Amino acid sequence: MPFTLHGLAVSQGIAIGHVHLISHALLEVNHYHVAPKYLEDELDRLDEAVATVQGELIGLKAVTTSGQAHSEVGAFVDLQLMMLADPMLIDAARQLITERRCNAEWALVQQMEHVVEQFRQIEDPYLRERQADVVQVVERLVKVLLGHPGHLPPRRRDGLGTIVVAHDLSPADTIGFRDHNIAGFVTDVGGPTSHTAIVARSLKIPAVVGLHHVRDLLEEDELIIVDGTRGVIIVAPDDEIVEEYRLRRSELEIERSKLNRLRDTRAATLDGEEINLLANIEGPKDLPAVKSANADGIGLYRTEFLFIGRDTLPDEEEQYEAYRAVVKAMPGKSVTIRSFDVGADKALNGAQARVEPNPALGLRAVRYSLAEPKMFKTQLRALLRASAHGKLQVMVPMLAHAQEIDQCLALVEKAKVELRAEKLKFDEGIRIGGMIEVPAAALSLGMFIRRLAFLSIGTNDLIQYTLAIDRSDEAVVHLYDPLHPAVLKLIAGTIATGARFGLPVSVCGEMAGDPLYTELLLGMGLRNFSMHPGNILEIKQQVLRADLGDLAPKVQRILKMDEPARIREAVERLTA
Ligand code: PEP
Ligand code: MG
Repeated sequence: MPFTLHGLAVSQGIAIGHVHLISHALLEVNHYHVAPKYLEDELDRLDEAVATVQGELIGLKAVTTSGQAHSEVGAFVDLQLMMLADPMLIDAARQLITERRCNAEWALVQQMEHVVEQFRQIEDPYLRERQADVVQVVERLVKVLLGHPGHLPPRRRDGLGTIVVAHDLSPADTIGFRDHNIAGFVTDVGGPTSHTAIVARSLKIPAVVGLHHVRDLLEEDELIIVDGTRGVIIVAPDDEIVEEYRLRRSELEIERSKLNRLRDTRAATLDGEEINLLANIEGPKDLPAVKSANADGIGLYRTEFLFIGRDTLPDEEEQYEAYRAVVKAMPGKSVTIRSFDVGADKALNGAQARVEPNPALGLRAVRYSLAEPKMFKTQLRALLRASAHGKLQVMVPMLAHAQEIDQCLALVEKAKVELRAEKLKFDEGIRIGGMIEVPAAALSLGMFIRRLAFLSIGTNDLIQYTLAIDRSDEAVVHLYDPLHPAVLKLIAGTIATGARFGLPVSVCGEMAGDPLYTELLLGMGLRNFSMHPGNILEIKQQVLRADLGDLAPKVQRILKMDEPARIREAVERLTA
């Protein structure tokens, strides 16, 4: 019998394909008895798993000690290596296998729970938190024991794609699926502006998240339909339903091809104001999509995707090649490249070993860059060198303090001095801008305006930090509201202040690519919208129908409202 499950629509489109379940290793451990004659083999299995994980961790440590990754990661790797050698964990698990004649993974999980309980009793908060390392090290071991060779699903031969179904996917996992004929993503958790959702959109893969326990309801290889536009999945559809969705999918394709006619039309409002529609990209692989939308430039290049999902960091040469490729592909057009925004849900490989109580409030974005000046300067040198090939500007994420800006600018100067001494070319007048993503920044714009050449509002984080809503937590996603009056005031204030001081302002969060907000942002005075390239033509269609003279006073009235239902109604009326 077909049935439907409802979740959150995060990446549009329709996918029809077969389920591939991604394991959540610790939840999958079964208990079984091992016959006495096989106990030695079971102990060998455990020893081999320990040796494999030791090898993985030593490999990770080699990266960290070569100065290529965050030094604190090295400390956590050491800690996990120590745990692997700790009799409390491994010897005790060996003892359980022998005494209770049980399988190795079950013994490990039993012992892990025992050790974690002991950590919980510790008063010192730092030591207490080390329980997470115990869990991570056991998870690594269990994955090896269960024989999970990573997450890559097999390619299918029947023409239908694979739908990846997981408890959660990190942005790095999602990127890892890029070349594997994945038709759709479905997860138990996640929110629409989580980085995983953003990656799914950039890969143009329909995705529905926040489907609570969906993995328990689906069978490996089962046929399902993912409707990434409505946020539903249809399990075990009959032929009639599959046909209906095939039809709907081709209708969507027709809609898209109609929009394609706008490709070469200049984006201008009815009263003649030209609007820049820029693209958000994650790397040179997105350039074909940028070209096919005929974007006016790149408004956000999220360079962290060059750094995550791999064991070693990209060196200056590799980065320079990637940045130069993008700049050269956009002759005469401006290319805004953001310094790496790693941390929180975009952890570097191995960095997940660092336990942070509040990752989104921790060492992320510019904070991470300034904590790793060597890694940051390598990137700045690569960016400066790429600036010799076109209109490149650098943008720094998540700024909140004047000293952060000053330190970044000092590091840029240092990189410039080095390049001059080495006779390497760069654009002497390169513009450095910053992202407004933290309410504190939006409320103290003077110090940004005095130091920077442009601003870009990252609404995804600005909303997260203004409303104290984790953007990747589906449990609170209903409270993630771009139209909250506090959010609107911060966005409108930033746009107006930028205009007053002649500083260019753009919006590069997901709001810029959502047609529901186009008129609202235009009415606030926004002239630079940066979005996923796949949204550009739809937003252009909205711009072409907009009349600024009519919108501006209406939006001023909306900004005075503080009743959410009235705001939503008024915003919807703007687009009608
Ligand atoms: C944002 O926060 O709106 C933004 C564009 O940055 P990211 O989504 O990469 O955090
Ligand atoms: Mg952000």
